[in-house]
Amino acid sequence: MSRKTVLIVEDEDNLLLALRYSFEREGYDVLTAHDGETGVSISRRLNPDLVLLDVMLPRLDGFEVCRILRVESNVPVLMLTARGEESDRIAGLEMGADDYITKPFSMRELLARVRNTLKRLGPSKPPERLKAGRLEVDLNSYEATLEGRPLNLKPREFGLLALLMGNRGRALSRVQILEHLWGYDYVGDTRTVDVHVRWLREKIEAEPSKPSMIKTVRGVGYRFDG
Ligand code: CA
Repeated sequence: MSRKTVLIVEDEDNLLLALRYSFEREGYDVLTAHDGETGVSISRRLNPDLVLLDVMLPRLDGFEVCRILRVESNVPVLMLTARGEESDRIAGLEMGADDYITKPFSMRELLARVRNTLKRLGPSKPPERLKAGRLEVDLNSYEATLEGRPLNLKPREFGLLALLMGNRGRALSRVQILEHLWGYDYVGDTRTVDVHVRWLREKIEAEPSKPSMIKTVRGVGYRFDG
């Protein structure tokens, strides 16, 4: 299965973190938003494969978000509704939601629903490979090899490598990298990017201190020159 991106729109921090953790552990790329407006704008910009949408949200509620998404795209929407609120479920389905799950839910069931919803969509995007000299990245099987040997990259290292290779010759800022790999509302430090670059260099560069592939672009960020 190729890697899918799920956008989670949920204003309760603890639940959002738990969802993010569970989906990432299942191999999804996760985007997050804390309110309806941000959810819509992220969905427009980044075209997730599925949107997990809470009903009670600040700024725009889940029904409004669903209605807007339905007009603009055919991204599958799975709604999180409150217990016992049958009217919520019916309203959600009327707005074009593909499925709903009632809070509190079991994470396992939610993941199964998401899997099924994505499966119903049919075949995924065609396989994609990135190649640079001795380095190869398979975006479908999620494997990276150097001279044919598997690199055993951690998910974010893989994401970082794929991002840099996919933008070969172009400098990417630390903020761009951070947003791409950690999400738009990641509360953290751009030094996180430097740390991951260092780890990645140790795995792919012959001389990590004099990198020939991942170049530092002073005052900007990084560029792949392989
Ligand atoms: Ca909520």
